[in-house]
Amino acid sequence: MRSLSGILLKSKKMDRCSFCGREKKDTSLLIAGISAHICDRCIEQAYIIAQEEIGKKGEFDLKGIKLLKPKEMKSFLDLYVIGQEEAKKYLAVAVYNHYKRLIQTSVKDEKDVEIEKSNIILVGETGTGKTLLARTIAKMLHVPFTIVDATILTEAGYVGEDIESILTRLLQVADYNVEAAEKGIVFIDEIDKIARKGDNPSITRDVSGEGVQQGLLKLLEGSIVNVPPQGGRKHPDQKMIPVNTKNILFICGGAFDGIEKKIAQRLNTQVVGYKADKSKGQIDQKNLLQYIAPQDLKAYGLIPEIIGRLPILSFLMPLDRDTLRRILTEPKNAITRQYEKLFEMDNIHLTWDENVLEYIVDKAIEFKLGARGLRSICEIIMIDAMYELPSKNEKEISIGISYAKEKLEKADLKRLKAA
Ligand code: ADP
Repeated sequence: MRSLSGILLKSKKMDRCSFCGREKKDTSLLIAGISAHICDRCIEQAYIIAQEEIGKKGEFDLKGIKLLKPKEMKSFLDLYVIGQEEAKKYLAVAVYNHYKRLIQTSVKDEKDVEIEKSNIILVGETGTGKTLLARTIAKMLHVPFTIVDATILTEAGYVGEDIESILTRLLQVADYNVEAAEKGIVFIDEIDKIARKGDNPSITRDVSGEGVQQGLLKLLEGSIVNVPPQGGRKHPDQKMIPVNTKNILFICGGAFDGIEKKIAQRLNTQVVGYKADKSKGQIDQKNLLQYIAPQDLKAYGLIPEIIGRLPILSFLMPLDRDTLRRILTEPKNAITRQYEKLFEMDNIHLTWDENVLEYIVDKAIEFKLGARGLRSICEIIMIDAMYELPSKNEKEISIGISYAKEKLEKADLKRLKAA
């Protein structure tokens, strides 16, 4: 169809689609080629067929990929994510092994030791960098990557999205190259929201909790799943694309609010036993998350089968003052650097007084806004300058403490907290 001239036919009588034979009056659009016509419906059909065929044949080449060592991967993560050393280390090793596994599968030596997939679960308060870690890893990799929110998923047949829709997204980012999608990485956010709703089996079915966990199982363990290429339930006649999830790496993230109680319970029962002397005294009560173990996820409401398929468990630390201060200026795309860049594009040199930066961090802590709050606070301080300066002739702006205080005191930070 390369020779399509792209001319829309307006007046010719009896023009027909050369593929389905429909007359022009029965189509919404008829396009003329050198010696044939094609209607809108046939274009749509042909597009789907082409995508599927390309997907089947598309070669996914691992050779072109430069395999970074775990330490190098961590160094890359360090450029964008502050702290979270443990999580970075686990993530780097898991991704490195994922690549090795892909290389091994592509070589296909039957006698070889089969490396098992190591899906990951990251536990940490909201706003501590789970999604940022996943996104940054994706930046570095050359495999298809997608982020999905577990809260929108429901068991098949209920309002919400089917579990297979996760793979639809992966297929879409892989341009329907099935082979590439089958080696991709999926980040499932808010996995804690699909925890079992209670220990007592109730009369109402738990369609967004345990039902979804059951559905996720087959994806996580590796099986052939029929995926609707357009997603959703709106296209009942779409032809399904079989996708093998054996080599897809799943990274799950969740805040697991209140899981510290479960950890504390477990640790207490342990210290009563003969282990008491060894573990007591060493426990850092302020951050119990660092002791998280698979049993705690079970106590929280994840089913054991899911936990078994997420063998790598790591945690993210709450962000302390020092980390928040570093987040403000250190990452490659730190918030302050972004403002500097924006002004630079207007040939304006922006600088911040050191005490302004401290003040921003103090406010973020005072109003419990976390790292996300840093940005909102900067925005309030900077909005007037960003509005006015491009129209003035000034070439320099320095944000001082009195200016920052004046702007922030006028604003209602409590409103930010609610958001
Ligand atoms: P989560 O997924 O844990 O809820 P995010 O990764 O979405 O949190 O973090 C929200 C924002 O806060 C990020 O986009 C980033 O700007 C900032 N942020 C959070 N944690 C860090 C960190 N450790 N280093 C750098 N920036 C961070």
